[in-house]
This record gives sequence, C-alpha cells and structure tokens, in this order.
Amino acid sequence: MSSDTRSAFDAPLNGAHARPFDGAQGKPSERAQGRSVDGSQGRRGLLFIVSAPSGTGKTTLVERLARETPGLRMSRSYTSRAARTGERDGVDYNFITREEFEARVREGVFLEWADIYGNLYGTGAADTEGCLAGGEDLVLVIDVQGARQVRSRGLENIGIFVLPPSAAVLEERLRGRSKDTEEQIARRLEVACREVEDFATYDYVVINDEVERCVDRLRSIVVAERARVRLMRARAEEVISTFRKDDHGGKSSESEQV
Ligand code: 5GP
Repeated sequence: MSSDTRSAFDAPLNGAHARPFDGAQGKPSERAQGRSVDGSQGRRGLLFIVSAPSGTGKTTLVERLARETPGLRMSRSYTSRAARTGERDGVDYNFITREEFEARVREGVFLEWADIYGNLYGTGAADTEGCLAGGEDLVLVIDVQGARQVRSRGLENIGIFVLPPSAAVLEERLRGRSKDTEEQIARRLEVACREVEDFATYDYVVINDEVERCVDRLRSIVVAERARVRLMRARAEEVISTFRKDDHGGKSSESEQV
C-alpha cells in the first residue's frame, strides 16, 4: 500500500490516553459542566471535523471561522513533516521528528493519526479532551483517514466535507500556489479523486466557491449545531421557568418584565 493511502487503523486506538473519550457520548446532563458562549449549560464542547482534498483551502477557511467565532478553537496537530517557510512550531503545527511521532503512536497518545504523502500527522487525544471537557468547541482539520478513525472510536462529532467547485478548479489552485512540483500536483490530484468519494460519510458538504461565502456556510453549521435542543435544554428550562406562575409567586413573566 502506498504511503498516500496507508490506513492508520492499526494504530493503538485504545491506549491509556484514549480513555477520556469513553464517556463522550453520554447524555448532556452527564457531561462535564461548563457554559458555552451561547449560554447552553453543562455541556461538553462540540467536536467538528473538517476534511477536504489538499488545495481546497480548508485551513484558511477554518482559521477565519475560528478567529471570527467566539468559543470555537482550531486544533493544532502534530506532524513529522518539516516546517515550510513561514510556518511556526506550536502555531501551525507541533513539529516533531518521525521517531518522536512513532514513539507517541506506540504510547497511544493520538486520538487519530495518518500517513499522508509520506509524512505523519496526528491529533493529540489529551489536547482534544481538555478542550471539549472545558466546554469549548473544537475543529479538527484532518484528512479522511483521520475522520474515519474518530468515527470508529464512537466519538460524537459533526463532520463537514469541503469540496472545490470542480477538479479543474482544484488543479488550477494547486498550480497557482506554486508550492509543489508537477509530480506532487499529479499525486495530490490522484489522492483527491479517492478522498472526495468519502463526502457522504460526513454530515455536511460545503463547496468552496468563494472564501467569504464558504466561511458563512461553515459558521451557519456551527450556529445551528449549538442550537440543538439537547444542548440548549438547560438554558431553555431557565427561560421556560419564567413562564411558570408557581415559580414566581403567581406573577407572570410578562408582568415581571414590565
Ligand atoms: P499539509 O502538509 O499541507 O499542512 O497537510 C496535509 C494534509 O494533512 C491535509 O489534508 C491536512 O488536513 C492533513 N492533516 C493535518 N493535520 C492532520 C492530523 O492531525 N490528522 C490527520 N489525519 N490529517 C491531518
């Protein structure tokens, strides 16, 4: 199997560090206490996964989304690939050696990991759990192999697949960013052809025809997911209690507000 496609499913997914996720699907009332930006109480943060073929612009989109959306963070992955010009350790990625990465895989510290174009990429399980347990919403920008692993662990998540408008536009974008050789572009396109077939395993699909519009669509998904009844129940109960005469000495909430 080529390094492009090697599945990381043989990773030790049930290492000691993976344990915090065991209860991730509990009822909202059983989850860690915390208050989200929209006032929904007592819930874990939401876990969003964004995947897209290389060159679709997903990192730019998610960086903008996280910057403009209170209470939403973009996860920082670990990678064995060398930093590109302008990339900073601890900001764009946690850059580590292949040996360090492999040691961490053996220790089971990754929620998911994958070998992509010969480099290793992974999401720290403890980092992710810390964020979610604190009630903060988190976005993982990971490839389709990583998304499959998160799902296979039964970890509750909201998957968003970002598509370019067409294969031709993707090719144009890959050439335009002049980061890759012809051979690398051909390889990225070949991998993209396989990756896009996974779109239906996600909850949402967004087409990146224009950055502004695409960020708006992503934000709409976050806003809608945050408004789910199961997450808003506690806050809604607070409001509804103001309608219950018994709770207010016989006064209606309307008369209270006047
Ligand atoms: P790049 O080297 O261009 O920054 O990223 C290459 C690919 O790796 C992208 O598709 C990106 O989404 C994916 N990637 C980045 N971090 C992770 C990670 O932690 N896990 C997985 N599975 N993929 C990642």
